[in-house]
Amino acid sequence: NTFAEIDLGEALNLNIRRCKYVKPTPVQRHAIPISLGGRDLMACAQTGSGKTAAFCFPIISGIMRGQFGQRAQRMPRTACPLALILSPTRELSCQIHEEARKFAYQTGVKVVVAYGGAPINQQLRELERGVDILVATPGRLVDLLERARVSLQSIQYLALDEADRMLDMGFEPQIRKIVQQMDMPPPGVRQTMLFSATFPKEIQRLASDFLANYIFLAV
Ligand code: AMP
Repeated sequence: NTFAEIDLGEALNLNIRRCKYVKPTPVQRHAIPISLGGRDLMACAQTGSGKTAAFCFPIISGIMRGQFGQRAQRMPRTACPLALILSPTRELSCQIHEEARKFAYQTGVKVVVAYGGAPINQQLRELERGVDILVATPGRLVDLLERARVSLQSIQYLALDEADRMLDMGFEPQIRKIVQQMDMPPPGVRQTMLFSATFPKEIQRLASDFLANYIFLAV
């Protein structure tokens, strides 16, 4: 039971060793094979369980081995990420961004973060340089979508982190608006991972609206 036994690709496995991760945590042990197998996932997992790596590893691995050749880029200043990670706060988004960058080191996979409560210009410049994985808070992402600076037409992977907290903070309308843009024709093949510490009615509803034929995981 080591990361070396999971087929994540050489470059990612090297970065995992650099991070000194040897043994997968329980959520990683179960979630990573499910996601690598192409299935949607609803995971009940707490902070500190290692969930960041659980959704980052399959995304990075998938982008590295994927042939996503033509992206739906229509305008030169519109960023077309392949993966979107939504998180409730600036702090959490920055943490995920930092970790994801370590995991993606020297893989060619570019990670950019965008959050509210900070000037947008720096984030726009980063996005213009290219982005594979966008980590964002829902409000700032809606702003970027309205400015046509981000398109979600090329999204292959969607991860919603701390979904219960995002709903508590009132982000459900923004989240629905964001997911709607991914479902616009032509419909892409999107793989979705929903992470939440709790599993109340509202999260069950999100799961049935956003996930297809999903596997439920509680650790
Ligand atoms: P998270 O729940 O994703 O916020 O992760 C909690 C902490 O555990 C972070 O500091 C991670 O870097 C660390 N961590 C995650 N997975 C592993 C692992 N398999 N081995 C060692 N540390 C880990």
